[in-house]
Amino acid sequence: MWQPKRVLFEEKALDYEYGRRMYDKFTALKIPVEIMGKGNRISGIPDSPAAKAWSEAKNVLAVRMRNTKTFETCKPSAHYQLPLVSSCPGKCEYCYLHTSLGKKPYLRAYANIDEILSRAEQYIVERQPEVTVFEGAATSDPIPLEPFTGLLARAIQFFADRTDARFRFVTKFTQVESLLSLKHNNRTRFRFSLNSHKVIQAWEHGTPDLGSRLNALAQVAEAGYPLGVIIAPVVLTPGWQGEYLQLLQELAMRLRDQHDLTIEIILHRFTQRAKNNIMDIFPDSTLPMEKEDRTFKYGQFGYGKYVYPKDVYSVARDFFATEVARLLPEAKLEYLV
Ligand code: SF4
Repeated sequence: MWQPKRVLFEEKALDYEYGRRMYDKFTALKIPVEIMGKGNRISGIPDSPAAKAWSEAKNVLAVRMRNTKTFETCKPSAHYQLPLVSSCPGKCEYCYLHTSLGKKPYLRAYANIDEILSRAEQYIVERQPEVTVFEGAATSDPIPLEPFTGLLARAIQFFADRTDARFRFVTKFTQVESLLSLKHNNRTRFRFSLNSHKVIQAWEHGTPDLGSRLNALAQVAEAGYPLGVIIAPVVLTPGWQGEYLQLLQELAMRLRDQHDLTIEIILHRFTQRAKNNIMDIFPDSTLPMEKEDRTFKYGQFGYGKYVYPKDVYSVARDFFATEVARLLPEAKLEYLV
């Protein structure tokens, strides 16, 4: 199980129950803890080379306070992000956080969870009688930190008591035990991010293999949570149909009769900025990012991305739509982009 090598606490975080719990847990595990100095700056992570700065940052956890005035929106899958933790100890070459978390993506956990949930409640009340959906993994994979923080468990229990809100998050990790016996009242959708064996082996590092993820997913299904699967990024290398067919077959063996299952599929895309960052950190990366094989598409946030051309996209869309309907007839394919 992953553990941080160093944990830094904002002094104020220790005024909060969850901050103190984390402090006690890390000291009991003999993981070095420090109280941050003035300005709450994170020290001790080198600035260069880029690969070292990135990699060492992923061993550092900062337990911080979260300003609760505003939450980021999270369209189209949820209304708001629920800030619990950010970053992730995984080292995937294609990580979507390369662009958003900068050169030193150290991990953060927020100690003032009760204030965060109180703010969530205000958003929920503002939108009544509509149901408000919160996403707990917009800037993180929250599961590797959960054994130390307990923040997801707190959030799941909060949403279990609300008829007017839903919670969802996604993970590639398997430390799900502490969440299995919680009362969730079907109001949290527990999603797993999966990929073909080949893609996991080639471009993910520090994440569990597919078999371990499927075992964790089966445990979560047994616990009665609404389930979700994200297959992303789908990388269309030679033989991709066989690789992804195998993935869907393995999934179907576990979940064929699962009634409350959503599937989201995202084909690989990249921005120029993401490509630059990836090549800084993984100079020998074999991740396919040749612009001449892609179509440039303008995005809604003012920057464009390189996506598969329309004809390639159509082949992939038809393949997944057909095979999901055949192998997982009860599942709802939410989108394929
Ligand atoms: Fe990024 Fe997810 Fe991989 Fe973590 S597990 S490095 S969040 S892609």
